[in-house]
Amino acid sequence: MKIIPGRAEDVVSENRTATFTGTVWGDPVLPATDGVTINNVFFAPGSRTYWHEHEHGQILHVTAGSGLICAFGQSPRVIRAGDTVWVPPGERHWHGAGGQSYLLHLAVSLGSTHWLDEVSENDYATTPAEG
Ligand code: MN
Repeated sequence: MKIIPGRAEDVVSENRTATFTGTVWGDPVLPATDGVTINNVFFAPGSRTYWHEHEHGQILHVTAGSGLICAFGQSPRVIRAGDTVWVPPGERHWHGAGGQSYLLHLAVSLGSTHWLDEVSENDYATTPAEG
């Protein structure tokens, strides 16, 4: 058993740039442990991940704000504070803020993450479907 302490005063948030578009900040909650990684991720309005897949799936829990999540071949859907999303293993998708609000979510990632292309402005601008 291991207890991971909460946020220490000297921890610096990580500005995520390599596989994200726009301003995205991440804080570790649980460093990779037995294939599970947990992060708090903050997306400024307009920012989002690249397209990607999770080896064994991912749980997203929106803790504040609202945003979008999109599975490949579908329209983006709105997610809001309190919502929880299960992304199945290998499903290609992206997630991030909408244009009008920041998004803060807890991301529980299972296995490795396979990063793909940037989400184009055209795909991001697709009118979100409710729910
Ligand atoms: Mn994901």
